[in-house]
Amino acid sequence: MTKSTQNGMGLTTSQAKKLQEQFGKNELTPMKKESFFFKVLHIISEPMFLLLLAAAVIYFILGEPRDGAIMLIFVVGIISIDVIQEWKTDKTLNALKDLSAPHIKVIRDGNETVIASSDLVPGDFMLIYEGVKIPADGSVLKCNDLCVDESSLTGEAEGVWKISNENSESTDDYWKKDYCYAGTLVTQGTATILVDKIGSSTEYGKIGLNVVSAPDSPTPLQKQTSSLVKTCAIIAAALFILVAIITWFNIPDHKFGPRLIESILSGITLAMAMIPEEFPVVLTVFLSMGAWRLAKKHSLVRKLPSVETLGAVSVLCVDKTGTITMNQMTVQETWAYDGDQHRLCEVMGLGCETDAYDPMEKAMLSYCNTLGISNESLFGGRLISEYAFTNELKMMGHVWSRNGEIIIAAKGSPERILTICNLSNEEKQKIDNKILDLSKEGLRVIAVATMKLETESQVPEVITDCNMTFLGLIGLADPPRESVAKDISVCNKAGIRVVMITGDNGITASSIAKKIGMPHSDHIITGDMLNEMSDDELREAVKSVSIFSRVIPEHKMRIVKAFKENGEIVAMTGDGVNDAPALKFADIGIAMGKRGSEVSREAADLILLDDNFSTIVDTVHDGRRIYDNIRKAVGYIFSIHIPIAFASLLAPMLGIAPSELLLLPLHVVLLELLIDPTCSIVLERQPADDDIMDRKPRNPEEKMLTKSLLAKSIIQGLVMFVASFGTYLYMLKTTDNALIARSMGLVIIMISNLLLVQVNSSSSDFMIHSIRKLIKDKVMWCASIGTVLMLLVILYSPLHHFLKLAPLTGSQFLISLLIASISILWYELVKLINKIKK
Ligand code: ADP
Ligand code: MG
Repeated sequence: MTKSTQNGMGLTTSQAKKLQEQFGKNELTPMKKESFFFKVLHIISEPMFLLLLAAAVIYFILGEPRDGAIMLIFVVGIISIDVIQEWKTDKTLNALKDLSAPHIKVIRDGNETVIASSDLVPGDFMLIYEGVKIPADGSVLKCNDLCVDESSLTGEAEGVWKISNENSESTDDYWKKDYCYAGTLVTQGTATILVDKIGSSTEYGKIGLNVVSAPDSPTPLQKQTSSLVKTCAIIAAALFILVAIITWFNIPDHKFGPRLIESILSGITLAMAMIPEEFPVVLTVFLSMGAWRLAKKHSLVRKLPSVETLGAVSVLCVDKTGTITMNQMTVQETWAYDGDQHRLCEVMGLGCETDAYDPMEKAMLSYCNTLGISNESLFGGRLISEYAFTNELKMMGHVWSRNGEIIIAAKGSPERILTICNLSNEEKQKIDNKILDLSKEGLRVIAVATMKLETESQVPEVITDCNMTFLGLIGLADPPRESVAKDISVCNKAGIRVVMITGDNGITASSIAKKIGMPHSDHIITGDMLNEMSDDELREAVKSVSIFSRVIPEHKMRIVKAFKENGEIVAMTGDGVNDAPALKFADIGIAMGKRGSEVSREAADLILLDDNFSTIVDTVHDGRRIYDNIRKAVGYIFSIHIPIAFASLLAPMLGIAPSELLLLPLHVVLLELLIDPTCSIVLERQPADDDIMDRKPRNPEEKMLTKSLLAKSIIQGLVMFVASFGTYLYMLKTTDNALIARSMGLVIIMISNLLLVQVNSSSSDFMIHSIRKLIKDKVMWCASIGTVLMLLVILYSPLHHFLKLAPLTGSQFLISLLIASISILWYELVKLINKIKK
């Protein structure tokens, strides 16, 4: 051991760095990185690229190496776009992973700092406390009531009480009492651990438990899109053969070789036009970019598919304290039963932890201070023992030896404290009335009681065996967060039930619920009622009750289950160790970034960095926006492929010569160069509809591609097809110039593409409204101006020779623009009619 670790200063940063070089990272399986080569190989093996490559090869065989070369350049272009896209997605996802990776408190350079658990090295001093999942093996230097759940290693459910290595005697036991093991869980107390083994040298690493982590299973959306892609691919294959055969009969004058190759080429053009290879890209890009945007707004998504589930959330179960309220308590009222205010407050103070971290206890101690009762005078005596607070007991006590007497100071929920006090029924009645008064004001009511003893041996084993004197009540205020009332009304409109879950008293909860405008705030289910209810009864009850009071974390599981069985999509918050199962079970488990335990964070789908209810509502809003945009993109991909696919299908059927077709493979690729970024950049950035939170949650059963969306996309696509192909055909017949005809057709498709996105940006608001929202968005401007520039370059630069296009005259260009606008903007009329109807 080095000198600095001996005197409690911890490692220095440079020592830690050296040790990390020597021992590596504290990880069980080092992260594997896909090499650049494999990434490219992966992209090239997609059907789309195989087709592209086939087309290029055919050009070379045909003796048109120039065309083949251009194809290859395009292929490289598209591969670059895809590689950049994937690299960006990877980077985003890794950044998200780092943000939500486990962290641990250590002492480095003499200061307490938080580092990523993977950066722990042997020799580090790590500080552990309740809720921490221990990240490395090490011996216990100092500890305070440390209890660890080691069931993940030993299978033993009972918690193990640890001792510091000073006090330990050497034993032969394999699992040592003065040693903590990675992968186990602190259920109580605090300790300082000297890290000894990390990564795969830990006991946990040796078992190799974590190595076989479950592979990411595909999300519902992924399943839907992959079946969509498959269907399209099958149709494409069938049409490929059809078009190839038709072309074959179209060109009887060709020799066998070229005839065969031309036929295959037009088949390939169609197949390329039909494969919706953008679908999977859209999904990963939208979800990961969505998660990234959420992270910037204090909401960390741990599991990507949650982003899509978020939009469907219909029930939001939230903790009262800290999420709905600010968790900033102040003592508002004190009611001394015998009139002795000072004594009541003194005992209340004695009942608090000496180093209070609970906001309620802090409030109590600071109230004592204002009365002139200092912490020194309170905690000057000797703490004999403690009755720890548990969620089941909802009370706690301290046994002090002070000023020559032994005194027990207890505080907790009045229901429980009263059961250990010696009171007549009338006295109880009087107290109950006062409790009701205070609760109705929305105050958290705490009862205080005391007991004097002669000797230490008289101290009862458990708090429930005490026989105490009731001293009085304390009313604490914890004001609701400022924005909560507004958020609740947003949820009401959005068809999202807000359910309040609290360990507090029902009247208090109900009074706060009223203050913030929660519906159904009169009915309450208490933890005791919950224990009596069957699952069926609970399922009925949750239809009309939104407040659960005096619950323990174990109840949360049943509450989520009841809602889920009613067909709801449930989001639930939790912070404690015992909340983890419910968080896992909920559709969206939300852990608290500030006060949550590591275990709850690990079980959650979402981590709320600011513990704020508003952030949850914002996150749901964004979830809906992202899902909307995915649907818009799917509709777009459908529409835009129709004019391309139909043109490649119909032109050969009409007996048009292969060299005069509207779209040669070259042009299909050119359009792909436009469609890809439109999907992954432009559509991803679409702002939310104004009324997005006025709708009911999406039906989780509903398919992404609904009938109405499909119908709309097909009609829009067909109109674009008629406009572009009609113009092309007309020009071909009248001017007999295939290059001009093709150029006009292509201009129409490209300009339509630009307008289509804007028109479909909202299903109800006019295009101008959506454009106004994005007026300052530089990326949108780049994309639009880029399209127009690209058009001008391919038409009016020498490039048009290579691309088999011709420069259009001014009027030809304007006519194309006009036709493109009409073919898209008619949908604005549909919106207008819908608005008038409403
Ligand atoms: P919440 O769900 O509002 O966070 P908790 O589970 O923290 O509620 O607490 C539930 C009840 O337990 C409180 O209403 C109070 O009566 C009692 N309680 C909580 N903390 C303490 C404490 N430190 N000392 C005594 N009683 C407590
Ligand atoms: Mg609490």
